[in-house]
Amino acid sequence: MYLIKLGGSVITEKSTTATFRSKVMDDLSRQIAKAGKDVLLVHGAGSFGHVLAKKYDLINGFSSKKQRYGFSQTQALVQTLNGYVLSSLHNHHLPAVSLPPHALLRLKNKEFERINMDFFKEYVTQDFMPVTYGDVALDSVIGFSICSGDLLMLLLAKAFHPEKVIFVMDEDGVYTKNPKRYEDAEFLETICYDDIDSLQTSLDDHADVTKGMSGKLQTIKKISALHSDTVLVNGLVPDRLYEVLTDQAPVCTVIKGE
Ligand code: ADP
Repeated sequence: MYLIKLGGSVITEKSTTATFRSKVMDDLSRQIAKAGKDVLLVHGAGSFGHVLAKKYDLINGFSSKKQRYGFSQTQALVQTLNGYVLSSLHNHHLPAVSLPPHALLRLKNKEFERINMDFFKEYVTQDFMPVTYGDVALDSVIGFSICSGDLLMLLLAKAFHPEKVIFVMDEDGVYTKNPKRYEDAEFLETICYDDIDSLQTSLDDHADVTKGMSGKLQTIKKISALHSDTVLVNGLVPDRLYEVLTDQAPVCTVIKGE
């Protein structure tokens, strides 16, 4: 079992609202199909989620009635993105089924409270490919908030103990600092668990409401503690994901499980 997250920075154009990168997605679907592995898939919300989430300040919970409209619009828009992702996977004959967090998961003051994993388990048992995604979700303390794709990666890693946890992104992997901002950022082929906290992760101009790379690295730290190896790989370069899925060694960053 391979757990893959297709980052919002890869499958959407982050600077323009609701812009899907269909060619990139098709290439990723092709690579997943060609590898022929059992896969659990998560995708980010990218520009289908973060623009409205910021406008209505959804991450901080209920403060005014008009946010309900923003919440429901965001839910619909990320569901549209999920529909595009599913269509692409189906075009490559993958048995992808959608499991939306807003119907399965609850937060508690922005942190995880509970999720119904039964549906994921049953679909996996029947050889489907469950697909879930960064979404808005109910919150038992502040009304509602945002469930990031990265949180879903941690929950699924805990529940399924995948052979590899793979984050597909728009850079070759992890650098000493944000490569979009610093020319002298150095690429890291491997990272030890203990070094994660020392990396710099300044946010991009169109950063998510969900903490960007710093949040991702903290999630990866928790995944490493579960003994799973994590790989960060560039989804914009042909066949790199395929090579990770078939145990070759493309350019990527590997974080060994503890
Ligand atoms: P995604 O939406 O794909 O899950 P994010 O946009 O949240 O990912 O985070 C990935 C982005 O984080 C990269 O595109 C990069 O610009 C930025 N970033 C910040 N710090 C780093 C770093 N140290 N190494 C690599 N990327 C970084």
